[in-house]
Amino acid sequence: MKHVTHWIGGKPWTAGAERHGDVYDPATGQVSGHVDFASADDVDAAVRAAAEAFASWRRVSLARRASIMFAFRELIREHTAELAALITAEHGKVAADAAGEVARGLEVVEFACGIPHLLKGGYSENVSTSVDSYSIRQPLGVVAGITPFNFPAMVPMWMFPLAIACGNTFVLKPSEKDPSASLLLARLWAQAGLPDGVFNVVHGDKVAVDALLTHPDVAALSFVGSTPIARYVYETGTSHGKRVQALGGAKNHMVVLPDADLDLAADAAVSAGFGSAGERCMAISALVAVDPVGDELLAKIKDRVGKLIVGPGADERSEMGPLVTGPHRDKVASYLDSGVAQGASLPIDGRRHPVTGGDAGGFWLGPSVLDHVTPEMSCYTDEIFGPVLSMLRAPSYEAAVSLVNNSPYGNGVAVFTCDGGAARRFVSEAEIGMVGVNVPIPVPMAYYSFGGWKSSLFGDTHVHGTEGVHFYTHGKVVTSRWPDPSHGGVNLGFPVNS
Ligand code: NAD
Repeated sequence: MKHVTHWIGGKPWTAGAERHGDVYDPATGQVSGHVDFASADDVDAAVRAAAEAFASWRRVSLARRASIMFAFRELIREHTAELAALITAEHGKVAADAAGEVARGLEVVEFACGIPHLLKGGYSENVSTSVDSYSIRQPLGVVAGITPFNFPAMVPMWMFPLAIACGNTFVLKPSEKDPSASLLLARLWAQAGLPDGVFNVVHGDKVAVDALLTHPDVAALSFVGSTPIARYVYETGTSHGKRVQALGGAKNHMVVLPDADLDLAADAAVSAGFGSAGERCMAISALVAVDPVGDELLAKIKDRVGKLIVGPGADERSEMGPLVTGPHRDKVASYLDSGVAQGASLPIDGRRHPVTGGDAGGFWLGPSVLDHVTPEMSCYTDEIFGPVLSMLRAPSYEAAVSLVNNSPYGNGVAVFTCDGGAARRFVSEAEIGMVGVNVPIPVPMAYYSFGGWKSSLFGDTHVHGTEGVHFYTHGKVVTSRWPDPSHGGVNLGFPVNS
């Protein structure tokens, strides 16, 4: 049975822990290991290690930082299969999907390799007579990342490559449900030549999170997780004087207009609804069919879902794995009953889907579709975060857009149409952070920034891209004049340019 502990100051933390959590193999339902839960003292040790390392790391040249980043990138490429296997073993997602998340995280590392260019400032000569001005960006200090279970490698990599490249030191608190990938990443950093203490990992629950939120030496926090915790992290962190970006939950709509290519739309709805068992913040969970396409679209979806292979993530045949835990599987399944009780139909019931090569104890739930869902039903109002598509019928384009915009969430949305004008209008009118046109999961590349609106993000900055660079740095503008006998002597007036 494996034992997962913290990584502090460049090595595993051996002090032991008073509290532990169980780590499961979702494909068997068995406990596969234990993870230490950090106390406030453990978190303090990690923050102190990071603060000590900051004093020298902030002075390391951009050239050296970039070369460590390049080495880290090569190591992740070499260890992609190993990272993916760790993710599959603890999260349950299929191996190809796990490798895909590593590849998307790697894109942020590659973006961070360009840190010398990203930190370039501006320079203006002679803003006033003999006076020059320039802008620079400087690191904040110790920054922390708190991440969810559903992307144990990619979401941490949205944060720490850029934070570290900017000259900060980092304390990661990954999800306690799948903690092992973060430790392999820590070992790869050490191998890449990152000085001890620049990257640290503490495992645990609310105790560890609260210790980070209130620690006086943590300058900023990036959080990704559910909306209630994102709100709590934002409010607590900012009230303790920290800079916080807190990304929350989602309820992503896919609007299918009457002129859409319905085969493309059905492929997209099945891929984006059931990939990673629907445990993606950009998964499609509300499918809005604008009249009259609903019945034909549903028939095409049924045809595709019937062929999906649900089974263990490590089995190459599997297209969809189990859910992350037993309680989560049960909660997701409960929406099938509540949806029917509230008036929806259940044309595809994932509880009946066969499991190929799976252990009976695994946390299985096949893909489901609830149809004729209406906005008051809990399967529509709640973030289910599982393989359940709620299908709504909308009488018009306007009705579909108002459904999208009345949602309290604003993470992602997609429109399917062959009409460029309709797509353009939708892009303009959707009150959502990330929009796809005939693309169901519009996750931005690393050089753009990722993030939603409304209850899907608390704070002002999205993650990675140039907004990420800004989040992890302070801007400073310098105005300088070199000694000149003609400087004009004492002047108590406000500085004006001459
Ligand atoms: P979660 O909110 O339960 O946990 C996220 C992190 O917060 C974990 O590290 C966890 O240990 C910690 N945490 C949990 N309860 C806490 C508490 N009471 N106080 C302090 N910290 C606490 O989320 P999850 O179940 O791990 O992940 C799924 C959620 O994450 C979904 O809501 C999903 O939409 C969201 N998510 C959002 C994005 C995005 O980009 N917006 C991306 C991925 C996941």
